[in-house]
Amino acid sequence: MKKTSFKEWLEKIAEKEGLKIKVRFTKDDYTARVRKDGTMEIPECLFDKIFTSEERKAIGAHEIAHLKYRHYEREEKWRDKKFLLLFFVLSLTLLPLAIGLTLLGFDGTLSTVVIIGALFAVVIQFSRQVLPQYFHLKRSHELEADKYAAETVGPAPQISYFEKSDRLVEEWRKKGLRWRLTIWYRKKTHPSKSERIERLKLRETIKKFKETEA
Ligand SMILES: [Zn+2]
Repeated sequence: MKKTSFKEWLEKIAEKEGLKIKVRFTKDDYTARVRKDGTMEIPECLFDKIFTSEERKAIGAHEIAHLKYRHYEREEKWRDKKFLLLFFVLSLTLLPLAIGLTLLGFDGTLSTVVIIGALFAVVIQFSRQVLPQYFHLKRSHELEADKYAAETVGPAPQISYFEKSDRLVEEWRKKGLRWRLTIWYRKKTHPSKSERIERLKLRETIKKFKETEA
């Protein structure tokens, strides 16, 4: 029953935003996610007694925001643009290098080693500059989704969810390397828990202030 009513609530909010979603409950994850096609995956562990229905709604609203603001499409477009750039940089570096080495009379093996070395140097330098930008973009999308969730169900349930979430993360970290890597990646692509809580607390203060004003 809890699941059915939660699903209905999600569909109602999505419909209000003009979005079509398909809710699926999953056993093999601990965070919710939404795909470009509107498939929303909600982990069953969120129905543990420690979480309230308001906290689940906050998580659901956060995911709806990712869909509403087309975050995944924006990230995809950004990645495509950077890959194209990388391709140009590589061709501009490697092609003249190959021609130069041939003209200078280097033998094949040495030329290959030099070119592979240059390839690595370009890729490493590129990712050092580009990856932080990508993580920054992802984090800004998370904050935008938090804001939407706070406007939908208020900031308090998100704050209390974050405060409880450490337990969940620790539980999944113990499941092995795959989860340790997933948790690492999520840490890179999401703002820190303390930053998110701080921003939400600020929203809560503003909300209370506005209520007393009215
Ligand atoms: Zn998110």
